[in-house]
Amino acid sequence: MESRSSRATEAVPRQRIERLLNHSRFRLRFPAPLEATYRAYHDADALRVFRGSLGYLVLLYLAMAGAALAVAPSGQLGAWPLLFSGFGLLILIGWLLVRSRLLQRFYQRVVCALAALAVALSMINPMLVTDPEFRVLVYIGGAYAVVVVYLGLSLRLPYAMLAGWGVGLPLMAAGYALAPRLGLAIDWLLVLATFVGASVLCMVICYRDERQSRRVFLQAELLRLDREHIALLAEELQKQALVDGLTGLANRRQFDQALQREWGRAHREHRPLALVFADIDHFKAYNDYFGHQEGDDCMRVLAGIFRAQARRATDLAGRYGGEEFVLLLPGVMLAEAASRAELLAAAVRAASLPHPRSSCANTVTLSIGVAAMVPTQDGSPDELVRRADQALYEAKAAGRNRVIAH
Ligand code: GH3
Ligand code: MG
Ligand code: MG
Repeated sequence: MESRSSRATEAVPRQRIERLLNHSRFRLRFPAPLEATYRAYHDADALRVFRGSLGYLVLLYLAMAGAALAVAPSGQLGAWPLLFSGFGLLILIGWLLVRSRLLQRFYQRVVCALAALAVALSMINPMLVTDPEFRVLVYIGGAYAVVVVYLGLSLRLPYAMLAGWGVGLPLMAAGYALAPRLGLAIDWLLVLATFVGASVLCMVICYRDERQSRRVFLQAELLRLDREHIALLAEELQKQALVDGLTGLANRRQFDQALQREWGRAHREHRPLALVFADIDHFKAYNDYFGHQEGDDCMRVLAGIFRAQARRATDLAGRYGGEEFVLLLPGVMLAEAASRAELLAAAVRAASLPHPRSSCANTVTLSIGVAAMVPTQDGSPDELVRRADQALYEAKAAGRNRVIAH
């Protein structure tokens, strides 16, 4: 239901839903994808209500059967079982179907068919009664059936009308043509006062009900769209707060969080934590020579190389700031971290980005400091950063384009 619903609103944007909602001549039909979603939503709700109200239907039925039994003249009792066993059977079928896939999939059609049979019974029943006073009661009972069909079964208006008029009109026509020949009594004034009157009134109420239900559905869709939009914004915001805009690597904030987390974990597990700290050599001169745009492109290429080096799920490649990159390697000893740093430096050299203003090579190069520690009780992650930074400083001092491990 959820995926179906999202698919529908992809095709029906917010403005369109708002326009539908504000339309003064509200029609009981939405544009195609939304209509299907509404029907699924409405039928699921209808089935739930139907399950909940079967008990009340049984009560209504028993009350009417009992009342009829109590007031029926003795001569008419013969018709009583016939009059009420039909309704009883319909309620029983409803009861048997209530958990079935048939009702889940075709709620409107199945309930419409049952309702049509109920309408047919309610119109035929009075013809079987000859006592005029009892017949009035049976006609009134028929009006109750009409009320239930239009208002008690969550049928959408077209289905309720199909069950009501679709059966009622042909039966009235047949009654008109055949009653005299079959010797049946039809009291047309009572038909008008009960079946026709109740049908017209209930149609109006059913229309207003469905219109309201559709409005509520549209408002719920708007709310759902808003919620999705807000969730998307929140996700985007969270991403932006942790990712460096230029390179797409972890930003300083994410690096700081990861460093704290991994330091704690390494401490608990008595495992090493390694930090690779890299700085682009003579990058100011690179910018001065090629321009900042080219400088940015160069940083993106290097970021790709760093990202490729963060192989395990717990490795983290980040931009520490300016033209400085970091690689945080949990569970890695100094020697392995140094060789990972050498791989990084080699990959950057292999990228062969020309750097005519560098004093140490004619391509872009890195100076890299490496440190690794097994955290102790009174140590802190700042110590790891300080050591890597110190190693980086030594790499710079020793002529750049090299790795120094502490
Ligand atoms: P060293 O070899 O000593 O590291 O020299 P350097 O020029 O790389 O270092 P310095 O700290 O003097 O300059 C860093 C330069 O990095 C200056 C700045 O223009 C450049 N830089 C920092 N952030 C960015 C950025 O986001 N984009 C570009 N294009 N350049 C940046
Ligand atoms: Mg720097
Ligand atoms: Mg630099």
